[in-house]
Amino acid sequence: MNKLALPIKIDPLSYARASRQVKGSLEFSAMPRLVEVLADKQGEAQFELNFKVDEEGFVVIGVSVEAALPLICQRCLKAYLHKLTLNSELSPVTDEAKVKDLPSRYEAWPLSEEQTISPIEILEEELLLNLPLVPMHSQADCSAAKLLANSTSEKEQATHKPFEILKKLK
Ligand SMILES: [Zn+2]
Repeated sequence: MNKLALPIKIDPLSYARASRQVKGSLEFSAMPRLVEVLADKQGEAQFELNFKVDEEGFVVIGVSVEAALPLICQRCLKAYLHKLTLNSELSPVTDEAKVKDLPSRYEAWPLSEEQTISPIEILEEELLLNLPLVPMHSQADCSAAKLLANSTSEKEQATHKPFEILKKLK
C-alpha cells in the first residue's frame, strides 16, 4: 500500500506485455475533479490495475476500485459515505477510428501522444462515471425518507423532482 508506487504515467503496452499489476490506495485529494463533488476531501480509494494482452492482441487494463465517497444525501442534505465498488476493462486507443474495432466489453481510453496513460486520470474518471446521479442514503438510514415516502414513489422523486424535494426540506 505504498502511495508512491503509483506512477504518473504508464506505458500500457509494456505493462501489458509483462502482465503487470499496480495496486494501492489513492487519496481523493489527488483527484481534483472528484474532490469537487465530494462533501469532504478526506479519504482514499483502494484500487488495482491489471494490465494484459488478451487473446486477440488487445491491450487491456482491468480496473477495480473500492471507495467510500463522502457525498451529500439529496433527500435529507446530510453527508453520508457512499460505498462504491467498480470493475471495468479499458483498452487504450490511439485515435477515434480505432474505437470501432474494440470489442464492446472494453471501454476505449485515449493514449497520450507519448503512448502513455495516467493511472490517476483513469481512476478519477471511473469514479466519476460511477457516482450516483442523485446521491441518497438508503431509505432506512435517511431521516427525510419516511417524511416523503407517503407522497410519491421514491423512483419518481429521485429521477424527476430532486429540486422540489430540496425546497420542501429547507
Ligand atoms: Zn438522507
